[in-house]
Amino acid sequence: MGFCVNCGQQHPDGTRFCRFCGNQQPGEPLLQRLRMEAQQIHALRLQMQQQQQQGGNPYQQRRW
Ligand SMILES: [Zn+2]
Repeated sequence: MGFCVNCGQQHPDGTRFCRFCGNQQPGEPLLQRLRMEAQQIHALRLQMQQQQQQGGNPYQQRRW
């Protein structure tokens, strides 16, 4: 079972066009590419957060 990306109606797996609104559905290769891109963006965000935490550490500036 899948859901139409346009109208949200259910349709069987492998359906290329929604039978309710006629919108073309993304195939599995496209979905895999979108998932990979989302993972890459997530990894980049984690890297940026770690760099910010390292740069903004107050204990490195205090010299006891
Ligand atoms: Zn639809």
